[in-house]
Amino acid sequence: MSVWTGLRGHAVQREMFRRAVSRGRLSQSYLFVGPDGIGKQLFARRLANCLLCREPGDELEACGECASCRPFHAGNHPDFLFVDRPEGKRELPIDLIAGSPERRGQEGLCHDLSLRPLEGSRKIAIVNDADTMTEPGANAFLKTLEEPPERAMLLLVASNLDAVMPTIRSRCQLVRFSALSTTDVEELLIELGLVPSSEEARFAAALSEGSLTIARQLLRPELRELRTTLYTALSQGNFSGLSLAKSLLEVIDSISADTPEQRVHANWLIRFAVEYYRSALRGLSQHDRETDFGAIPMAQSWAGTLTNRAEPLELIGTLIERAIEGANHIEQNVPVPLALEAMLDDLARMSRPVIAR
Ligand SMILES: [Zn+2]
Repeated sequence: MSVWTGLRGHAVQREMFRRAVSRGRLSQSYLFVGPDGIGKQLFARRLANCLLCREPGDELEACGECASCRPFHAGNHPDFLFVDRPEGKRELPIDLIAGSPERRGQEGLCHDLSLRPLEGSRKIAIVNDADTMTEPGANAFLKTLEEPPERAMLLLVASNLDAVMPTIRSRCQLVRFSALSTTDVEELLIELGLVPSSEEARFAAALSEGSLTIARQLLRPELRELRTTLYTALSQGNFSGLSLAKSLLEVIDSISADTPEQRVHANWLIRFAVEYYRSALRGLSQHDRETDFGAIPMAQSWAGTLTNRAEPLELIGTLIERAIEGANHIEQNVPVPLALEAMLDDLARMSRPVIAR
């Protein structure tokens, strides 16, 4: 089995490294950049595995059985180093890079990397979340980057290139990674057992922007509850915007620690509404349902009830515009309750069936 099995996309980057290895032209420092949740760190780990393997063969592979692969898989390879931002922290602490204040320079990544390889021909360090290094941390790290120990290799991983110090950026070979395809995200969600149904996998993948991280956030039970509450109301045709806003705001408040989080959740809610109407639109315009990625059944049956309206397509278009306006209001710092109440009230009023007299 290939060491790359289970890793989606990024074929170009693999080929680039394969050629660099076969020509003996590997750099000592790389900076991997791309959106969150697309497998950059996983790629870096697989690459490290291949480069440390003693029986790698011609291709960029790892045998999985040699005296290097076994400890690597067991997580205790002496020549493989890894640091990242601790859970719940916003920054990558300098202590991990350069050692604690008492033992600065005598421990930490830079120190460990300067030691001779124990097992094989090189030492490899992955610095995950390299864009969250503090300035002192980055400065301490810079020395290692400027003059890397002879057989050391550095793989920096970051999602925000602008947040990486220019001095660090300029000393690494930049490798850009793209978002995954929607199909890759959908299949990964199913493969990793993260979804209750293939329908959910499709929906989350369609909204994920090619990021497994976003897809997983979308699948959190609280966000699912928001979505279900919203869709149930929207599909009733005749609902009260204000009482819907009230129950949705209760959920949002219960899952948001602060105002910025409240905004993030409100934005998701609006995004859900837009997806609902877009799915309705596709349902109405005789879109092929088999290939309708991320179709929302509730929205499509709701669309079916609109056929007696004069201009159903136009109506849905107006509803989408109103929802997007809500997102703009939140962007402009309108308080979340105010923005959502106004938006849902308008959506309710606009979608109410016209009663024949
Ligand atoms: Zn091996």
